[in-house]
This record gives sequence, structure tokens and C-alpha cells, in this order.
Amino acid sequence: MRKLFFIFLFLASPLLARTPQIPTLSVPRDTVTQGEPILLEFTGLNSLNNVESAEFLGKNFRFYNFDERIQALLGVDIHQKAGIYKINIRLKDGLTYEKRITVKDREKIPEPLGIPEKLGGNTTTSQNNLVNDLAKENATLENIKSSRVSLWWENFSLPLSNIFVTSPFGYSRETGKYTIAHKGTDFRASEGTSVSAINTGIVRIVQTGRTYGKTLVIDHGAGVHSFYLHLSEINVKVGELVQRGQVVALSGETGYATAPHLHLSIRINGSSIDPMKFFSLFR
Ligand SMILES: [Zn+2]
Repeated sequence: MRKLFFIFLFLASPLLARTPQIPTLSVPRDTVTQGEPILLEFTGLNSLNNVESAEFLGKNFRFYNFDERIQALLGVDIHQKAGIYKINIRLKDGLTYEKRITVKDREKIPEPLGIPEKLGGNTTTSQNNLVNDLAKENATLENIKSSRVSLWWENFSLPLSNIFVTSPFGYSRETGKYTIAHKGTDFRASEGTSVSAINTGIVRIVQTGRTYGKTLVIDHGAGVHSFYLHLSEINVKVGELVQRGQVVALSGETGYATAPHLHLSIRINGSSIDPMKFFSLFR
């Protein structure tokens, strides 16, 4: 009897092994607000190489390996029109996935913001200059290179040891006739506070601009970048590999800042998303 059972197993196992497991794609939320991130995860997918294409909002995105899981991060830009959008994924074996994401309007919260004396004070000329400078500086921060593969193997961590948000992501900052969306989070940080890399990555940009002041950009791979603005000092060079938690800079008030603080922005595939929502994805 025992022998027969083994024979049965011997005959049956190749058949069982060939039963295909259909990978499932989980999308934890089907409704997001403008400026929020989305974390996707595949279960039952053997390898990243099985993904043929993945697309959302007209852009291709990359899956990555994390902790023996296969995930992807998506960002909905703060200016993305409210509506229903599709995530489309095709695997090499021909399987396709379509998930619908509803994007809701973000509540407009106005925040008056004066222009500091060092940038000309609250005059129409300095307001016009600010908006022009901002456009020029933003252009230098577009299409920043990102490693094809993710460079991190641990969860993302906060950039300061003491966290106090002084101005959240998404506020509409009003300067004269202009409204500027705040595409990052401001944290309280006195001049010279240690600023840590939020994860492993490669330094892509070290520059000084009129509005963002001393600016550092780290590429974490798979389309994720972190931006640290208004710094007083930057301790790393372009091309350098930095570790999660490594002190990469000191906070300050360079550029368009009315007091010392750290401004942190996080972009996913070029779209700025709410950093605090981003960190909460990994808890
Ligand atoms: Zn800010």
C-alpha cells in the first residue's frame, strides 16, 4: 500500500508542479487624492523578468524586488485632473491586468507667503522674478536620471531625528497674484541640523538656486527621487552612493525661505507626492 502511494506521488507530482499559478496583483486603494502615492504588489510572480510592460498615466513604470516581494510605486501628480485612470500591466506569458484608480480633487488650503527681504520683499517685481526663477530652476530638476533597478533593501526612513511638520504637502501658497502649490513637506530644523538620506541611493544633483537654495537630489532607483532644499551645507558629491540614514547635508534657509527648515520632496516617475503619505506606505 505504501509503495503504491509513492508510485502515485511519483506519477502525480510532475502534473501538480505544472499546474500554473496565476499571479495576483494587489492594489490596496482604488481611490487616491491628487498628490498621493500608490504601492502595488504581485503575489505568485516568480521574477521581475516576467513583466513585459506596466503603464499608468501615459508613463511606463518599473516593478522591483523588495524583501522577496515584487512591488511598484506609482505617483499621482498634484495637478493630475480628477477622474478615473487605468493601470495596465502585461506579463510575458500574455496575462494582462487592468486596475482602475479614481483620482479625487485635493482640498485647496490657501497659505499666504511673503517674499523675504533678501529676494526683494513683497513687491510686484519680486513676485514676477520669483515665479520666473522658479520656472528656470524647476527646469533644471526635470528628467533626472534614475537607476533601472531599485537601490534600496530596507524601508524608507525620515530625514531628521526629530520630526515636526511646519507646512504640509499640497498647500496653495499665495504670493501676490500667483499661487504656488507646495510640492513637499517642511520640517522644523534649526540652522545646521543633520539631514539624513531617506534611503540608499546615488546623488544626482548638488546645486545652488535662487529659490530652492542649496539643493540635493538622491536617486533611489526604479523612478524614485528624494529632494532636500534650502540646505546650509551639502556633504556629498554627484555620483556618490549614499546609505539610508547617512548624514548627507545640514539644514538652513538658503533661497526662498523665511526661516531655517528642511523642505523634503519625493518624486515617483517625475510626479511629486506627499512625503508623509509615502512614509506611511511602509509602516
Ligand atoms: Zn517647503
